[in-house]
Amino acid sequence: MLSRQKLFWLSRPYDLAGTERAFLRAVRDNCAYHIRHCPAYRTLAEGEGFSPEQVRAVEDLKRIPAIPTLYFKRHAIFSMPRWRRCFEVTSSGTSGSFSRIRFDWGCVLAEAPMVIRLGLLHGLASPVPAHYVVLGYRPDRKNTTGVTRTMWGLTWFAPPLSRHFVLERREGVYVPDLEGAVRALEKLSRSPFPVRLIGFPSYLWFGLTKMKEMGVSLKLPARSRIILAGGWKQHYQEEVEKPRLYSLVKKVLGIPEDHINELFGAVEHPIFYNTCRNHRFHVPAYARILIRDPRTLEPLPMGETGIINLISPLMCATPTVSVMTDDLGVLEPGASCGCGIASPVLNIIGRVGLAGVTTCAAGAAQLLGEEEGL
Ligand SMILES: [Zn+2]
Repeated sequence: MLSRQKLFWLSRPYDLAGTERAFLRAVRDNCAYHIRHCPAYRTLAEGEGFSPEQVRAVEDLKRIPAIPTLYFKRHAIFSMPRWRRCFEVTSSGTSGSFSRIRFDWGCVLAEAPMVIRLGLLHGLASPVPAHYVVLGYRPDRKNTTGVTRTMWGLTWFAPPLSRHFVLERREGVYVPDLEGAVRALEKLSRSPFPVRLIGFPSYLWFGLTKMKEMGVSLKLPARSRIILAGGWKQHYQEEVEKPRLYSLVKKVLGIPEDHINELFGAVEHPIFYNTCRNHRFHVPAYARILIRDPRTLEPLPMGETGIINLISPLMCATPTVSVMTDDLGVLEPGASCGCGIASPVLNIIGRVGLAGVTTCAAGAAQLLGEEEGL
């Protein structure tokens, strides 16, 4: 599976045209691997008459059997036995069901250069030590969610001096302690070192609104940053417009807009999407995105809204090469952003009505039967 390492180690982060051959090669190898090692994926590929050799150009990516995230939530399917895994994570499962995704060592090895390159490019990596306030869960052995792991990982981009977690487990349940976080921020605003606030956007919004009501107005040290991860989750209806959030951040914490990074990713597609200086997500060279018509599943042209289909040859332990999300989105040409990054911009619009996803999940389930993976 050297083609995967070549793509992740040698690519320039946003050079889609220059990485096309390497990407297609890695995708073909990855599909062949899953067909060989995952009986459920093999059944799906045979059912759709797919073979990896059919992927010769970007236009052929639509032929790869796409598995809906909803399917991963109902079935644990893997392409590697448990003993060969590096670790396993779960999605946060707000509705009670969650995906189980197994990571292999080769995947971790491929992720490292991607995360370092993009971290440097987007100003996340810094040699200056920082204090961290995490608006998320304190990691422990019982918590295997991808978002907890991601937030913990983000506390290493600048050497950590301290970590404060807002969600602590008490007697088996997580209890948010926003007042404790406010006290911690007040104390840290007097530190000579920068503060990095990591968390779900919704928690940041609620926390800042509360601080504003309390009359708190801080000036966190220079080079402090906000890193938003995990999306809005169950708070979609409360999603505020980004400019309102940024002006609240400036008012309450004294952090300017250009020190706010937002990340996007999914346990089934752990690609490190970062916002550019205009706060937009460009597609990195390690992934390709198709926007599909919710009814016909045919790929839509740029500018049209549909279901987001994420494609990457990153993982061998789980057949996540093409994942059909339950999010709606639209792609725009990179030049429309104006930040200088040429690869297309992904706008995530929200969650698709459940009926649409159930339809494609049912289609895959029919092909796969109800069998469990290895
Ligand atoms: Zn941009």
